[in-house]
Amino acid sequence: MAQYAMYLRKSRADVEAEARGEGETLAKHEKALTELAKRQGLSVVKQYREIVSGENIAARPQMQALLADVNEGKYDGVLVMEIERLARGDTIDQGVVAQAFKASHTKVITPIKTYDPNNEYDEEYFEFSLFMSRREYKTIRRRMNAGRIATIKDGNYITPTPPYGYKKIHPEPKVYTLEIVPEQAEVVKLIFNRRLQGIGSRAIAAELNQMGVAPMKSQLWERVSIKKILENPVYMGKIHWHSKRDGDIICNGRHEAIIPEDIFNRVQKLIKEHPLAHVNNNSELLNYYSGIMFCKNCGHQLIRRYVKNSGKAHMLCRYNSCRGISVSSTMDSVDEALKESLTIKISKLEHIQKRGKTKAPIIPDKRPIIEAELTKLKNQKAKIYDLLEQGIYSTEDFLERSAAVADKIKNCEAELTALTSAAPAQKLPDAELLVRLKKVMAEFDDATPETKNKLLKSVIRRIDYSKTKRQCRNDMTTDLQLNIDFL
Ligand SMILES: [Zn+2]
Repeated sequence: MAQYAMYLRKSRADVEAEARGEGETLAKHEKALTELAKRQGLSVVKQYREIVSGENIAARPQMQALLADVNEGKYDGVLVMEIERLARGDTIDQGVVAQAFKASHTKVITPIKTYDPNNEYDEEYFEFSLFMSRREYKTIRRRMNAGRIATIKDGNYITPTPPYGYKKIHPEPKVYTLEIVPEQAEVVKLIFNRRLQGIGSRAIAAELNQMGVAPMKSQLWERVSIKKILENPVYMGKIHWHSKRDGDIICNGRHEAIIPEDIFNRVQKLIKEHPLAHVNNNSELLNYYSGIMFCKNCGHQLIRRYVKNSGKAHMLCRYNSCRGISVSSTMDSVDEALKESLTIKISKLEHIQKRGKTKAPIIPDKRPIIEAELTKLKNQKAKIYDLLEQGIYSTEDFLERSAAVADKIKNCEAELTALTSAAPAQKLPDAELLVRLKKVMAEFDDATPETKNKLLKSVIRRIDYSKTKRQCRNDMTTDLQLNIDFL
């Protein structure tokens, strides 16, 4: 479960207002942010309370602590009254703050809006607001946002660059739409058709490059650009807008579709159900764990990377949130761990066969129990906020309880996801699995990466990878763990 922090600081104006007897600012802000957290169901696990009113970061110890934690990616977001509370006045400080939040994908949550520094528009606003006065900014932002949503709902295309296959036109005042570029539209149709035939994005990109068809901006087609085209509803005549504040808006565009809606939807289904293995540029699949091995911590697919100074290929999770939590392993040690697991599975299956016990035991469904527990915990979380508001809990009590409950909720949710994803899976009969496993063990070592991938997929649905400790040179122990879900 996502974790959040709260940052409280007085501005110079607050100090002056307090001197006039207007009440304690931080207490007021704490109350407002606590209510905000409660409304949005956010778990606040730590509070940074700046007592001194230092103008720059160097003079604000709590800000330094917060930035260090943000840099480590500890939080999904930080609650603050206004963005300017984070940094104001000093350009270098503003840059430091913006960079820390951006690099760690940490959101800034204010009572008015949630900023995702990795969203193009939010980023602009985020940096903007560090420089502008609150009032100026507020007015401009509101006007821009309201105007933008209305324009989108009218079917206008307002993103600065047109999608491939179209050009931007502005036929009359307040109308911004797209016009088909016929040659490009043919390429778009080809891309969708090839995907329907089961061809992956990378192979389609290679095909287009071979045909000498140029993409819009870059020299060559890449897998991601193909993928973006395949997933963009603009091609079936829709306008898609996503922002944290407004969520997903999909409405009918003013422009003509290139791909019929049913074809577009068929492709989306295909992408969802049959993610294709990533094959690298020389069309050789090097990561034979592609489509199989995922990070236990964040759920993303692991990637293979050649590490120059060790001279070896490694498997790793490249997501920021896993830095320091999920540690890479050499391909060799992953292979070893895998073969060990397969050997154990084979001997277990042989043992079962010998005893003639072929029926799988019926496992009772634990989900209703966990769901009930989760509801209880969520009620507890709401209660904790109430107790803080009523002044029964001190801030320390609140943070401590809140973190404890957040932890329990996280565990319950993880357990539930594990059970839910495991539940509908059809299992292979033991005898069949045993035959296939033996084939994998016999052929794995000498197989090409592509064949290895096929072999693995013949017995394994998914592997969750976890490793949290770095290995020392003279210590051969490792906490590498492969959680294997067999077919
Ligand atoms: Zn990860």
